[in-house]
Amino acid sequence: LLIAVSISILVAIGLPVLYLGLPLVVRRYLRSKLLGIIHQSGRVCLTFDDGPDPRSTPLILDILKEAGFKATFFVLGRNAEKHPELIQRMLDEGHELGEHGYAHVNALASAPWSTWKDLSKGGRMLDDFRAPTRNRCLRPPYGKLNPASLLYIWSAGKRMIMWDIDPMDYRQQTSEEIAASVTQQMSAGCVVLMHDGRANNGSDPSITVGALKLIVQAMQEKGLSASTVREAFETNN
Ligand SMILES: [Zn+2]
Repeated sequence: LLIAVSISILVAIGLPVLYLGLPLVVRRYLRSKLLGIIHQSGRVCLTFDDGPDPRSTPLILDILKEAGFKATFFVLGRNAEKHPELIQRMLDEGHELGEHGYAHVNALASAPWSTWKDLSKGGRMLDDFRAPTRNRCLRPPYGKLNPASLLYIWSAGKRMIMWDIDPMDYRQQTSEEIAASVTQQMSAGCVVLMHDGRANNGSDPSITVGALKLIVQAMQEKGLSASTVREAFETNN
C-alpha cells in the first residue's frame, strides 16, 4: 500500500511538473537557437501579429511598400478567413505569412487537444493560400506552449519565432511611445513584435500604423532595412 501511495504521489506531482516544465525548457532552447540565427544574419525582422485587420493592415502594407521593406505577418486563422484579400495582398507584395493559430488560444489555459486543434486549423487556413508550408514560422499566441503545441511544431516542421523587442503596442497610448521603445532597442539582427490586429480588446490598431511610420524613418536614417524571417534564415545558409 505504501508503495502504491508513493507512486501515486510521485505521478501526481511529476506529471504537472513535466506538463508545464518540458515546454518551458524547449521554449527557452528553441527561442535562443532560432533568434540567434536572426541576430547573426544582421537583418531586422518586423513582425506583426493578430491580423489581418482592415483598419490597419492596408495602411501598414502601404508604408512597407513605400519603404521597400518586407515583413512577417503572424496572422490569426479567423481573421484570414474574414479578409482573404489582405492575405493575398501580403503574399503578392512579397511578405511572409506565419502561423498564430485560429482563435488565439492560450496554451496554458486550455486543454492540449484544443490547443492542437486551434494551431492546426490556423495552419490549414494558410495552406489554402498556398503559403510555403515547410519551415513556416509559427508564433504561439501569448508566447505560451504546452506539450501539444510542441508536438504540433515538431511534427508539422514549423519554426518557432519569438521576439527581441516588444513595445506592447496594444497597450500604449501614443505612436511616439511605441516608436521610441523600438528604436532605442533596435540593432542589426533583431525581431520586433508589433500587432496589426488586436486579438482581444485593446487600443485602436491605428496607433501601430503611426508608430511604424516613425520606426521606418528611424531605420532609414540608420541605413537599416527590414526583411522577412525566412530571408534572415536564408542569409545564413
Ligand atoms: Zn497574438
